[in-house]
Amino acid sequence: MLKLKIKNLRFSIDKKEILKDISLEVPKGSFVGIIGPNGSGKSTLLKNIYRLYKPSSGNIILDNKDLSDMKDKDCAKQIAVLAQESNSQFDFTVEQIVKMGRYPYKSIFEDYSKTDLKMVKEMLQKVGLDEYNDRSFSNLSGGEKQRTLIARALVQNTDFLILDEPTNHLDIGYQIQLMDLIKSLNITTLSAIHDMNMASMYCDYLIVMKEGKVIDFGTVEDVITSQMLKEVFGVNAYIGKNPINNKLQVSYMHVHEHVNGVGCDHVHEDGFSGVHSHTV
Ligand code: ADP
Ligand code: MG
Repeated sequence: MLKLKIKNLRFSIDKKEILKDISLEVPKGSFVGIIGPNGSGKSTLLKNIYRLYKPSSGNIILDNKDLSDMKDKDCAKQIAVLAQESNSQFDFTVEQIVKMGRYPYKSIFEDYSKTDLKMVKEMLQKVGLDEYNDRSFSNLSGGEKQRTLIARALVQNTDFLILDEPTNHLDIGYQIQLMDLIKSLNITTLSAIHDMNMASMYCDYLIVMKEGKVIDFGTVEDVITSQMLKEVFGVNAYIGKNPINNKLQVSYMHVHEHVNGVGCDHVHEDGFSGVHSHTV
């Protein structure tokens, strides 16, 4: 079953086409990562999905309904977002920010219920900020801000989550804690992600973007190849397998270093991956 289906999405700003005929599908319950170089259109694609931007043409279909027919509040009951940059100009406390996640369930002037406050407390605990209720958001570290914003997205209680590079600003301990938490929710997740090893660890499928186009889609093993890393990011990498969890592991190399002198990984009897071919 599909959670999200995008058909022939195009998006331009000032006559410059940024998304070029994007079609993709996100299966229900899956964790799908979007990888691609800076400027390849990952954030712009996500912004079209969470309706910050309006597509120039094409369709975005969530649970068989076209998003363009949906009201904002209904949309907010279905999609929670952790965006890349937070531009909060006003000063709120951590608790106030997290409470905002409950707004789609409130009518104007309706106060927060006990259930709302309980959810806020629970999520703050989950992200390790239970002592932070009254702290001012603007004085938090980058990591604490990120954890506050993920708590806000989680109290929104949706079954679809959009994340734009969620682990930016987090140390490795909090990166893994955050991703484990998101994974444990078992909700459909679409996330732009920079780190190939995190992508390998958490994603069921990966979408590769380059210059505003989707150039590949598949499982982690299909997509993360040294050939792709060379073509898309211009880097040499050796791809092995973690023997404990069997996940692909990427190790980067200097520009002059190549595996077997040809810059791509080789089949190895102890489980290292071979070169995968993929259609573009
Ligand atoms: P990514 O998230 O993959 O790094 P973005 O989606 O942020 O990439 O950007 C894709 C391209 O669109 C870039 O070339 C960027 O400069 C351009 N772009 C994004 N937002 C705007 C905007 N508001 N105005 C003009 N160009 C934009
Ligand atoms: Mg981005």
